Amino acid sequence: MPDPLRIAVRAQGLSCRLGDTIAVHDLSLEVYAGELFAILGPSGCGKTTSLRLLAGFERPDSGSLWLFDDLVAGEDAFVPAERRRVGMVFQDYALFPHMSVAENVAYGLSKAPDRAARVAEILDLTGLGALGERAVHELSGGEQQRVALARALAPRPRLLLLDEPFSNLDPSLRARVRAEVREIVKLAGTTAVLVTHDQEEALSIADRIAFMWRGRVEQVGTPDEIYSRPTTVHAADFIGDANIYRLRAQGGRVQTPFGELPAPEGADRVAVVVRPEELQIMAGGIGGEVIAREYYGHDQVLHVRLHSGAEVRVRVGPHERLGGAGPIALGLRTQPLVLPAVDE
Ligand code: ATP
Repeated sequence: MPDPLRIAVRAQGLSCRLGDTIAVHDLSLEVYAGELFAILGPSGCGKTTSLRLLAGFERPDSGSLWLFDDLVAGEDAFVPAERRRVGMVFQDYALFPHMSVAENVAYGLSKAPDRAARVAEILDLTGLGALGERAVHELSGGEQQRVALARALAPRPRLLLLDEPFSNLDPSLRARVRAEVREIVKLAGTTAVLVTHDQEEALSIADRIAFMWRGRVEQVGTPDEIYSRPTTVHAADFIGDANIYRLRAQGGRVQTPFGELPAPEGADRVAVVVRPEELQIMAGGIGGEVIAREYYGHDQVLHVRLHSGAEVRVRVGPHERLGGAGPIALGLRTQPLVLPAVDE
């Protein structure tokens, strides 16, 4: 269980320039001991660089970084990667294909007398006990992923870093392997930081998420907070599906397709955010016409043009409105979010 009273990672104002790009800008965050923490954001937002800063593969230009009580990067301090006691799982697993599972797992362990026992223990923990003698190239993608995890956990790292660990897996395998990885990390009791551009992955596996945009952390919160109460338009837009209307506010109010709403103090340009599942078909509600329909089996998304001219996507159950086009009336389950707008 995450322990908010023990901080495993404390980053304060970390910045890192790569060539002409400020890849990470003023990164501050805290990861609790025992937590599975995800850094989520679009391609190029600085996720990998953040992870490399934590690992010690990159040296920050400014700011400080503590792992538990140790200052590992700061103005006059830099502890190199091999002395940070950090385990890594790479996107491509970086395993030795012709070595056995047990040999791969033993690779990172010093030749201490309890080495074989530790390999056996970690193979057991990761459910690989029966596969120890198998060559890695004879394993499935999901099994290779577990070997990479076992190898990283074997030396008892105080922090485990996972870089897009599921992106090489077949989509049909991903959900299962994700759940397995979460379970193993929790059983091992290790603090873990995972980076991903896949919002579903972050929402389903992480205790908390940091959302990054163009080198900066815009929001940190639990999956529910990040999804239900995004604090920036970028987070609302990138995570999950959202209807977003960029509008002008006046005197602290904004006219929206769903009626007048209060606007954040001082904002004259706002973004009104409504998740498609927050709308429902409701007799006597806001009128419009269904203009298109996407059917997904478990649910469907109706594209509706409201009488006001605004278009809105509405997620409904699979059996609603099978006829498709025609008049419709909509109601809201919750009040839309009104966020300050920012330039793209
Ligand atoms: P992706 O999901 O595509 O891997 P990311 O969020 O992990 O992206 P980073 O790899 O951290 O992002 O890159 C952040 C920014 O730094 C990007 O704009 C990238 O182009 C730039 N960058 C990365 N590596 C270098 C480098 N070696 N030299 C110059 N710029 C770099």
